Amino acid sequence: MKTGILGGTFDPVHIGHLKVAEEVKKRLGLQNVIFVPAGQPWMKSNKTITPVEQRVEMVRLAIAGHPDFELSLSEVNRPGSTYTVQTIREFRRKFGEGAEIYFIIGRDGLWRLPQWRSVGQLIKLCRIAVVPRPGFSLPDMDAMEKQVPGLSGSVVLLDKPEIDVSATEIRRRVAQGVPWKTMVPAPVAEYIKEHGLYVR
Ligand code: ATP
Repeated sequence: MKTGILGGTFDPVHIGHLKVAEEVKKRLGLQNVIFVPAGQPWMKSNKTITPVEQRVEMVRLAIAGHPDFELSLSEVNRPGSTYTVQTIREFRRKFGEGAEIYFIIGRDGLWRLPQWRSVGQLIKLCRIAVVPRPGFSLPDMDAMEKQVPGLSGSVVLLDKPEIDVSATEIRRRVAQGVPWKTMVPAPVAEYIKEHGLYVR
């Protein structure tokens, strides 16, 4: 079994997430990609985030019709702050030692990886698949390896896709009345409109 895990705040889920999941699945020959929305993300705990039920619903809508994409409520259902290492440990237990698990992140995430909780354990539990992100260069991997021994052996660097979309930009556009609908799947755009999300 070869599986990808895409964790995120998904506030909202957007075409960047879907293209990333599609590309990594294809390139690494994954059987599926599991989307794991964060409950209350510790990295963003000082910001206002859309209620989890709505973020989950948007992911549900976005992946409907993609038979190889799944939704996991693992982090949503865990009380308190959740950390990727706990999530991956759970998947490792579920899928067994033989499974190949790839945690998928954008290059923005790679820069922050050394600060993640128990990153040394995380990279033993899974490999980290890193996709490009416009505006983010690759960090110096030798320096990263010094901070987190074993990291460079765990990381798989992909050179595609390059999608210039972020949830921050979508929220900004909705609030300012600038066109944004092509940045999310159509049912997600409907949901955002219907629920008046991101309108200040
Ligand atoms: P925000 O702008 O609110 O920080 P985001 O667009 O980065 O949100 P998240 O839900 O935080 O979306 O992202 C989940 C994961 O997907 C992260 O690892 C992030 O790096 C990655 N990701 C999101 N958008 C892209 C993109 N356009 N290209 C590559 N990776 C992306």
